[in-house]
Amino acid sequence: MLFFDAHCDILSRIDTPEALFSNRFHWDAQRALSNGPFIQVFASFAGSRFRDQPEKVMESQLQKAIVAGNQYPGRLKLIRTAKDLENALKDQSNSKVYGLLEAEGGEILGGSLEKLDRLYDMGLRVLTLAWNFDNELCDSVAGQSRHNGLSAFGREVVARAQELGMLIDVSHCSDKTLEDVLLITQKPITASHSNARALCSHPRNLTDDQIKALARSGGVIGINFYPLFLDNSGNAQFMDIIKHIEYISALVGPEHVGLGSDFDGFSGLPHGMNGVEELYKIPEALLRLNYTEAHVKAIAGENFTRLLMGVLKPA
Ligand SMILES: [Zn+2]
Repeated sequence: MLFFDAHCDILSRIDTPEALFSNRFHWDAQRALSNGPFIQVFASFAGSRFRDQPEKVMESQLQKAIVAGNQYPGRLKLIRTAKDLENALKDQSNSKVYGLLEAEGGEILGGSLEKLDRLYDMGLRVLTLAWNFDNELCDSVAGQSRHNGLSAFGREVVARAQELGMLIDVSHCSDKTLEDVLLITQKPITASHSNARALCSHPRNLTDDQIKALARSGGVIGINFYPLFLDNSGNAQFMDIIKHIEYISALVGPEHVGLGSDFDGFSGLPHGMNGVEELYKIPEALLRLNYTEAHVKAIAGENFTRLLMGVLKPA
């Protein structure tokens, strides 16, 4: 069964490209592949520590994945086009991880639309509009409502990114930003690592209305494993991941749910989910709950690959 994880932060943890293949963090390629064929979205993320120079930090993280793919083509291949994705889906050898590059925060653009084109050429394919502070594009859910949603520049960026063949990601966006993005989007979008607010009231999670609106756009929501987004008690268990999958599936259909682990974006995993090597437990649990095999495959990976097929440039 194909696995697609729409968000992990391993690039911000490792010092060398080689460490992508084996390390002591939540995610490495070797453990990912123990589940089966694997596609991973690799986020670049600067955080508050590098707020003054996020671009440099984020680009150097993307470079680690690019160098790893160039030096070890038998172990990692970055997907840039729909054709690449098609080839990845055909590859039954299970010998390499396929990856997509993400910027977690539009601050990587430094306010420049031209920079978006340069990053596209470099291989960037997923643009998360914000992280935990307002930037030139839009307001973050953890921000100060600097623009009251999406800025004029943010609108230009969303339009250009979709023209280029990039996936727009609204995880971390304020409620108003999400609303604004949905009004102008030409293609389906994602909330790559967000859960249901009805089950866990953290503002990083999505309201029912937001989940419905994302689904109407043809979008897919990646379930986040961060305990504080899973359960209000903060003492989350593996089955809380399943509860969010079930909730969103029941609300809008299983074709709009996927995985967005957020591995290595936090410390302290839910009980019963100790790292990427245990991702196989999710389809197992869903099958036990009488989900059809087709729906389980969709949730484990195919929903996100379908989404990307409609977003990436053909070749
Ligand atoms: Zn995040």
